[in-house]
Amino acid sequence: MRLPKPVGELLTGYVALAVAALVALLALERGHVSAELTVTAAGLLALAVTLAVLSTRALGGALTGLLRALERLARVALPGWRWTGTSDLDALAAELNAMTPRLRDRLEELTEDRDRAGQILDALDDGILLLDGAGRLLVTNPTARSWFGLPEDLRPGLPLRRVISVAQIAELAEEATARRAPVTGTVTVVLPELRTLALRAFPLADRGPTGRTVVTLSDITQRRRVEVLRRDFVANASHELKTPVAALRALAETLESALPDDPDVARGFVARIGREAERLDALVRDLLDLSRVERGALDAEPIDMVGLVKEVAEAHAERAEERRVRLRTELQRESMARGDRAQLGLMLSNLVDNALRYTAARGTVRIRLDSIDGKVVLQVADTGEGIPPGELPRVFERFYRVDKARARQTGGTGLGLSIVRHVAESHGGTVTVHSRVGRGSTFTVTLPVTGPPALTGS
Ligand code: ADP
Repeated sequence: MRLPKPVGELLTGYVALAVAALVALLALERGHVSAELTVTAAGLLALAVTLAVLSTRALGGALTGLLRALERLARVALPGWRWTGTSDLDALAAELNAMTPRLRDRLEELTEDRDRAGQILDALDDGILLLDGAGRLLVTNPTARSWFGLPEDLRPGLPLRRVISVAQIAELAEEATARRAPVTGTVTVVLPELRTLALRAFPLADRGPTGRTVVTLSDITQRRRVEVLRRDFVANASHELKTPVAALRALAETLESALPDDPDVARGFVARIGREAERLDALVRDLLDLSRVERGALDAEPIDMVGLVKEVAEAHAERAEERRVRLRTELQRESMARGDRAQLGLMLSNLVDNALRYTAARGTVRIRLDSIDGKVVLQVADTGEGIPPGELPRVFERFYRVDKARARQTGGTGLGLSIVRHVAESHGGTVTVHSRVGRGSTFTVTLPVTGPPALTGS
């Protein structure tokens, strides 16, 4: 066992004192007190005294140091603790005993605080990075780690630039640290899919070690996509509306000049004006339908699907006859589902409308209704012109038409199938298409009988 230095000195001093006393005692007993013996005893005595003085001073110093350290500990760890400043060892031991449970409570409090902060960081959808003044990464939350593929046990203190290869993040943090003010920016990264992140770096100037900076990263990919879609939609809708309006104006002007000279030609213009007005009307109706289904307010009522299909088929019977296309239904006796009747009717109507429009005379359009695995399966199949395989993935996009010029002739707006997809998906279902050019197309809508997901059970 290694003894503390002052205690060792003290012990050595006691041993020296004992030896000196023994030597003196023996010499006195034998009556033989030589000068050497006196010098040896005096030397040992002097050594004992010196060691005692040294060790007392060292012990005193150590005690003062200990007292100061404990006082500092009380001040830092237990704010509000009344330190008695005693130098009595018993009182000191009592004070330490009293401090122990308070220190344990304080430690528990701090651990709880840390756990709570950690839980919040873990639950955030945003990425969080904490950097020190030298740009070293101290803390990351799970979102940031998953985006940048970092391990859960990432060693703190590595330079950010080495850990995350996106230089803009480190640059933004450095700028915020240098300017001592928040800095924002956006960055597009491949993680591995393309993501747009909004960054905000703000220096923690007033609390904790200086120079620390927090960087928050929010995924705004979806928001950006919606903004682009909205912008495209407005541009496309304006363009689509402009075409018939321009045609109407041109026709009206020509009609004005043709009317007095040639009534037959004028009648032709009037018919064309009527057709353009119909196109405009169809477009506005589809736009209104789209905005209605996209507004998101769905009714979830029990629907007799058989009745609904019959109703839509009846509404299209006249048109089918005009086009000399057979319109058939293959229905079960009964099929119920929950959903918005008006929207599901609009969806089916759009599919039947398309099938009739893209099927030549003597063709057939068939509406089938099945229930498979607790799902309602609605199929609209035609023997029409079909859709080329390369176009299939795009037909559900807004304003997308396989053959723009022809679709316009036939009265298509390019919005019908995007309405179909929206209604199917908002009811928790899907729509798919199979098609062969020259043979026909089959659109299949699958819907859960339980209705729209958010309204299930309501
Ligand atoms: P539109 O109003 O032009 O019909 P849709 O969104 O309903 O717009 O359809 C998009 C495109 O998909 C159409 O322009 C057409 O080319 C194609 N399409 C849709 N349904 C059919 C079908 N049953 N047969 C062949 N082509 C179709």
